[in-house]
Amino acid sequence: MEVTISRIALGFGACYLVRHEGAVLVDCGYPGRGRAFRRALSALGMSPGDIGLIVLTHGHADHVGSAAEIAAMTGARVAIHRADRSWLESGRSAPVRLVGALGRRFSPAATRVFSALPFQAVRADVVIGDGGLSLEPYGVPGEVLHTPGHTPGSISVVLREGSAVVGDLAMGGAPPLRRRPGFPYVAEDLGLIAASWQLLLERGVRTVYPGHGSPFAAEALRTIAGL
Ligand SMILES: [Zn+2]
Ligand SMILES: [Zn+2]
Repeated sequence: MEVTISRIALGFGACYLVRHEGAVLVDCGYPGRGRAFRRALSALGMSPGDIGLIVLTHGHADHVGSAAEIAAMTGARVAIHRADRSWLESGRSAPVRLVGALGRRFSPAATRVFSALPFQAVRADVVIGDGGLSLEPYGVPGEVLHTPGHTPGSISVVLREGSAVVGDLAMGGAPPLRRRPGFPYVAEDLGLIAASWQLLLERGVRTVYPGHGSPFAAEALRTIAGL
């Protein structure tokens, strides 16, 4: 039985449903997307109760916004890294630090914009530490790895078959906004991002599924970061 990865667009961002013997949902999109998610799920021939675990890649409103609604609908357990847990449980986004020369100047404004997008807080059922989490108990051959850099608690779902769902650790091409994959526009620490990319490559990741933009070949990370 193969692993299936389904991209579900919820606004500008996307979440991913990973299916094997069980089903794990990675991220939950913007606030107020519960109904859209349910429709996408039935189009895939799935019921909410089929999902055993929700992995939240980090504490930004465009990834955890509908987590409360989707957790209630599915009854699935909710997992997040301990460094981003407080954002999920307070209903506020982690700080948004823009990359580049103007970042320092505009980051407070960006953080304010994101703070103005509150979401319903959710309690984490599974708090992930630096040792990560195996997804085998949820019927998916893979694991969650701590891949910081976008936020301190950013995590990636790495599947044994060579795919990784990475949240905002990297961005895909999304014409007309950007043509190619690359570093995210927002990052706590670009050096940490490159180190996390290196970790994914060392783990044999071949395809990257980003929270924004199209999936791409992991080899691109090596070129972009000079790894
Ligand atoms: Zn983010
Ligand atoms: Zn995002």
